[in-house]
Amino acid sequence: MTPLRIRFPQGEFARLRDRLLADPGRESFALLFGQREAAGDAVVIRVIDSHFPQPADYESRSLAHLRLRREYVYDRLVAMQARGGVDTVIDVHTHPFASRGAAFSGQDDADERAFHRWLTDTLEVHYASLVLSRSDYAARGWERVGDVSHPRPARARAQTALEQWPCADEARPAQSPAAALDPETGFLARGALALGLDVLRQIVEDQRIAVIGVGGLGSALAENLVHSGFHHLHLIDHDQVETTNLNRIVGAGAEDARHHRLKVEAVRDHLLRINPAARSEAHPTTIEDPSLLPALAQCDWLLLATDTHASRFRTQELALRFGIPLISAGVNIQVAEGRITDMSGEIITARWGDRLCLNCLGRIAPTQVAAETMAELGAELARRGYVSGQTVKEPAVKTLNALLAALSVETLLNQFTGRQELPPILVYENNRLPRIFPDHESPARRPKGCFHCSW
Ligand SMILES: [Zn+2]
Ligand SMILES: [Zn+2]
Repeated sequence: MTPLRIRFPQGEFARLRDRLLADPGRESFALLFGQREAAGDAVVIRVIDSHFPQPADYESRSLAHLRLRREYVYDRLVAMQARGGVDTVIDVHTHPFASRGAAFSGQDDADERAFHRWLTDTLEVHYASLVLSRSDYAARGWERVGDVSHPRPARARAQTALEQWPCADEARPAQSPAAALDPETGFLARGALALGLDVLRQIVEDQRIAVIGVGGLGSALAENLVHSGFHHLHLIDHDQVETTNLNRIVGAGAEDARHHRLKVEAVRDHLLRINPAARSEAHPTTIEDPSLLPALAQCDWLLLATDTHASRFRTQELALRFGIPLISAGVNIQVAEGRITDMSGEIITARWGDRLCLNCLGRIAPTQVAAETMAELGAELARRGYVSGQTVKEPAVKTLNALLAALSVETLLNQFTGRQELPPILVYENNRLPRIFPDHESPARRPKGCFHCSW
């Protein structure tokens, strides 16, 4: 069974651990409220807020024991019902006596089973739990089948690998390093020298990345991902290769255009030639397709490289719904009277919990989304001059795509190494001189309390 994922907003998993483990002599407790999203077999719980009891809320506590006052739990649950927007209770407690190998005790089993029964009988809310040792965690969700409560394995996921903690239930991969990581003969031996073996191990063994759009930008992005060691990609694009794409799609050739091959298949085959051990799944469909949801829900990053407002809107919506961090890349070339007047691109990093998204940053035009979603409306809007027509052939060059694709994957790798404190928006501009600089203005100007990314 797919482990349930408990996803924390940026910074929250580390804050929770720091706060609860600050007292090394006594067990500590927190009550989290979350929102559950299910897609096929995949279940994601986004942690929405955290509550920490005051000393007086504990009935008793010691190194290997804690009991909360009943009123505290009732009051929090009443507050939860009043709050709305959450449907899951996650209880977290520490085992400060354990330096590693966090595991639920027999007492925990009995307490949680009883609490789950009570919760489902009275409030119809979902329930999950986490236990923290001093260096790892164990997690589970509770599910009721008929009249019986069953634990289901769960994983806690921070937004970034830098903030992640090991799961005590997971087989330690250290004993059997992937062949790609072999320091003498491995495909990633030289990459490991640059990024470090620990970083590459996470990239190889623990990451699923979705690339939305595998045109000129997305195909170059996917190639950079595989060269960087990512071993599990989902490629999403419904388009076919055309001769006019061949100036920029990495992995596509004249034969692909002649046979109208799907872009995702041409790119997947290219990635497999580079690293046959990497798993690249081709999804010849649009991001709107609900059949993608189970795969997307389990991704660790969404990399967005499409050029329609509708697909960008939908991808951002999914990122927020499942609590997945997003990197969005885009390019722009403007030509007037035969001369390039602008050649630029930008990379936006929007992790869940950063409280910024493509909507409040002004990167999605609602009229364009409407026009692209509804063909008839689009024609009407175009007629009235609100949006440009749909069949405009945009200028495109490989060099700009290659630069932005590399910069996007650099930005992603930074989320593993922490080498640079990158701003949410990085701009590449190739006008008077090529230069890369942060855009501090757009985040500062964005309206606060965005409907999409604030809660
Ligand atoms: Zn316990
Ligand atoms: Zn927003």
